[in-house]
Amino acid sequence: MSKPERTKVLIIGGGPAGYTAAIYAARAGLQPILYEGPEPGGQLTTTTDVENYPGYPKGVLGPKMMEDFKAQAIRFGAVVRSGLITSMEEKHPPHQLVVDEKHTIHADTVIIATGASAKWLGLSSEQRLKGKGVSSCAVCDGFFFKGQDVAVVGGGDSAAEEAIYLANLCKNVYLLVRKGEMRASHIMQQRVLHTKNITVLWHTETQEVLGTDAVEGVRVVNNQTDKTKTIAIQGFFVAIGHRPNTSLFTHIKKNRIGYIETKPGTSQTNVPGVFAAGDVQDSLYRQAVTAAGSGCMAALDAERYLHATAH
Ligand code: NDP
Repeated sequence: MSKPERTKVLIIGGGPAGYTAAIYAARAGLQPILYEGPEPGGQLTTTTDVENYPGYPKGVLGPKMMEDFKAQAIRFGAVVRSGLITSMEEKHPPHQLVVDEKHTIHADTVIIATGASAKWLGLSSEQRLKGKGVSSCAVCDGFFFKGQDVAVVGGGDSAAEEAIYLANLCKNVYLLVRKGEMRASHIMQQRVLHTKNITVLWHTETQEVLGTDAVEGVRVVNNQTDKTKTIAIQGFFVAIGHRPNTSLFTHIKKNRIGYIETKPGTSQTNVPGVFAAGDVQDSLYRQAVTAAGSGCMAALDAERYLHATAH
């Protein structure tokens, strides 16, 4: 059997946090290895224009920004690989990680930047029609519903963004909001309310997505009047938030809602040599710029840790 590979810094996740950690660790001469995971580029690859990342006065496309982050990390010597970390023994360093169930790596430090994934409503009809009209990503799948009618569930910034994106492509967009108000930022709410072909249905919950081999409609209920109605749609987009990707990390301490806990003001987890950055440890801010900032912190914390423990 071949000897396990050894690295000073292993980064799990190829979003803004992971790539920024790679840029900093590479520039510090640590030759980090980064595994991109199942969604290279992270959630930004499922968004269109990013208008709030400083330095881009005209905005930038999410996927393009992630390509730039990656190119910058590689330029300084980071090794970026595709592949999934399938297990991690993280009690104490060196941490043993297995890639794609076959390749073992021993890492002196690990930076967890695995992000968060979309939540689903949990209806069996939703699961059955996934990929047949049910989606969690308007940018990925909106094109298929050009000129058709669609619904978006949720009242946060994601739902507002998806609805606005789809309104450019589709005939009618129904935004299903379960309360009488939206959680989205003021500017996004205004955009939604001023887009002619978006109809906001307040106090509205989804009972069932209708259709056998493709979405044909949705049955909704008004939770104030208990009245149900069916809306004919071909696309059903779920935009109700995210869940952190932490199932791999059994010894890492998580908070009440499953996000990795870090020592305040640092990226340090409860396990020496393991650091966390980006959405996997942040349920509050969840922005590309805050993820990038915390990726920088994680690389600097890893560098200091390696120095202090003289690896
Ligand atoms: P949020 O957690 O902010 O919002 C989730 C929304 O989904 C809420 O309106 C919630 O309703 C609703 N919801 C949750 N569960 C259900 C359910 N089972 N049925 C119906 N509705 C449900 O998630 P987002 O993904 O929208 O945003 C997360 C963070 O990312 C936020 O901080 C946001 O600002 C940020 N973001 C920023 C963007 C930008 O700046 N361009 C773009 C996208 C996100 P309720 O209010 O009733 O709980």
